[in-house]
Amino acid sequence: MATTKVGQPLDRGTLDSILRRRMFYTPAFELYGGVSGLYDYGPPGCALQANIVDLWRKHFVMEEDMMEVDTTMLTPYEVLKTSGHVDKFADWMCKDPKTGEHLRADHLVEDVLEARLKGDAEARGEVVDEPENEADSCDKKKARKKKVKDVKAVKLEDDVKTEYKGILAQIDNYNGEELGELIQKHSITNNGNPVEPPISFNLMFGTAIGPSSNMPGFLRPETAQGQFLTFAKLLDFNNARMPFASASIGKSFRNEISPKSGLLRVREFLMAEIEHFVDPENKNHPRFKEVADTVKLRFLPKDVQLAKRTDLTEQTIGEAVKAKMVDNETLGYFMARIYLFLTELGVDPKKIRFRQHMANEMAHYATDCWDAELETSYGWIECVGCADRSAYDLSVHSKRTGQPLLVRENLEIPKVWEEWDMDVDKKWLGPRFKKDAKKVETVIESISQEEREKLAAKQKAGEPVIINVPDLGEVTLEKVEIVKREKKLYTREFIPNVIEPSFGIGRIFYSLIEHVYHYRPEDRARGVLSFPPKIAPTKVLIVPLSGNKDFDPAVHSLSRAFRKIGVANRVDDSSATIGKRYARNDELGTPFGVTVDFQTVKDGTVTLRDRDTMQQVRASQEEIVNVVTAILEGRETWEDVVKRLGLFEGQDLEN
Ligand code: AMP
Repeated sequence: MATTKVGQPLDRGTLDSILRRRMFYTPAFELYGGVSGLYDYGPPGCALQANIVDLWRKHFVMEEDMMEVDTTMLTPYEVLKTSGHVDKFADWMCKDPKTGEHLRADHLVEDVLEARLKGDAEARGEVVDEPENEADSCDKKKARKKKVKDVKAVKLEDDVKTEYKGILAQIDNYNGEELGELIQKHSITNNGNPVEPPISFNLMFGTAIGPSSNMPGFLRPETAQGQFLTFAKLLDFNNARMPFASASIGKSFRNEISPKSGLLRVREFLMAEIEHFVDPENKNHPRFKEVADTVKLRFLPKDVQLAKRTDLTEQTIGEAVKAKMVDNETLGYFMARIYLFLTELGVDPKKIRFRQHMANEMAHYATDCWDAELETSYGWIECVGCADRSAYDLSVHSKRTGQPLLVRENLEIPKVWEEWDMDVDKKWLGPRFKKDAKKVETVIESISQEEREKLAAKQKAGEPVIINVPDLGEVTLEKVEIVKREKKLYTREFIPNVIEPSFGIGRIFYSLIEHVYHYRPEDRARGVLSFPPKIAPTKVLIVPLSGNKDFDPAVHSLSRAFRKIGVANRVDDSSATIGKRYARNDELGTPFGVTVDFQTVKDGTVTLRDRDTMQQVRASQEEIVNVVTAILEGRETWEDVVKRLGLFEGQDLEN
């Protein structure tokens, strides 16, 4: 059962209603009936998203000295044809011919088998995953019934259950044909309606660039391609030094077959992606030692999933790379940094795991991939993909455009080796072969070192040097010298490999909210979002005790003081009780409340309330501004503040 951060049963219906009511996000185009998979963010949602992005920039772009770029979303057809997206960026889709519905084939199999397993548990009276609260329980039942109507509480044979669980453990690994076979074999229907065999559905939104419509294009499905296309310029900008990383934050678009689960599967979403370009022969990372022994992760490797299990291995990232479970230091370094970023945001470390992709599941460009998955009431959700894209993208774009997307490196010690050269006398070659001279030259150039050595031995023995030229047949090279020479290379050329951490900001945003959500034990209706202060949308709520005009100067000067140092604050001078005003802001996740009261008018002091403990301290306005700043900057904790200033228990304003 999904639980809140303090172990209470998580009632998603209540949380969803808080998020809508407080305008974190709402369905887009509601006046027109809405469009599934499209959402608008309201004021606290925008502020929260901005704070997540701000931390991302500090944690990755600044800390790792990355080069941020902002490339266009409109992308010409040719680029995405070359990258493989036109042919391969697709999901398997089944049509229900009776209702006309389009369903994602893997989701259909997953939903039906999961529901059958739940039906079995219900028939055996084993259902544990039901929330305590009646409203939620109805909601969940309704949702399940709506999703899969043809499933009843029916007992399953043990071997059938084992088979279902095995399929679910590797649901991401099936191709279209295999999904079709599963649908047939297990009589999977869309609520009783047979479905057509799965077909491939491309997820990109097509468009035309320019008025003449003769330049087809797409809305980009990822920010990565824009970064690959600026690679040569960035390398130059970085004075040709390797390794380096580019980074980009921007919207991406995917025409999901069946958007669902709120922000988790949408058609337009904010992505933050890093492309770390690295020498394929050396994927060590200079800062790996900083995380090797200190960051412990929970892994779900591919062989465990293929064995139809889901148990996790907990190890330091150093151990995982040493055991070659994680392919290389750079991939491991980023996995550790992703974990540190997520936990700094406030994500619950117990609800993070890294799952390795199985072969079929891997994107067409990847050679190894680990997803950071976060546990939510919807199950484990991929929030960050961390893939080794090898040299795939740079190679295909270079081949298509004829532009060298490679690195030239000066070698400290030149590479020295010996090679057989075939020196043909050009003055003889031209007149002897006339228009075919080029053809003969091409054949000579293609002769391998092994063959040249043999020809040299023949020549030494006084035999003629005979080669085979297309259309001309056997040709004797009368004027050729075959000699062994020392060669030296002072530079090396290579196409970099790319390690790509790719963050879906919306998924992180929603998972974070679930992880910080809880409610006051005495009242389920009083929800609290315990964001870390620096991530919270608004930091300080300023509340005058009543509408008394005498409170105005302090309210205004406090607000001004916070604004001046960039601390987001709001004044709530509504007529609601202070308790109600605090409760409203608990739902918004505001960590601090400052109350201006009669004492303020007398001596200038105000109270500061901490959202999580509901404790208060009292001090001068200047001191309170300093305390808030110190906590936001991580110089002090609330406990430190209480120790220093003492608890203020003068008035209970909560009720
Ligand atoms: P991918 O390129 O498919 O690995 O996706 C990278 C990241 O984008 C994922 O880890 C998700 O966080 C996010 N993402 C992908 N598809 C969606 C979607 N339809 N809705 C929201 N986020 C998505």
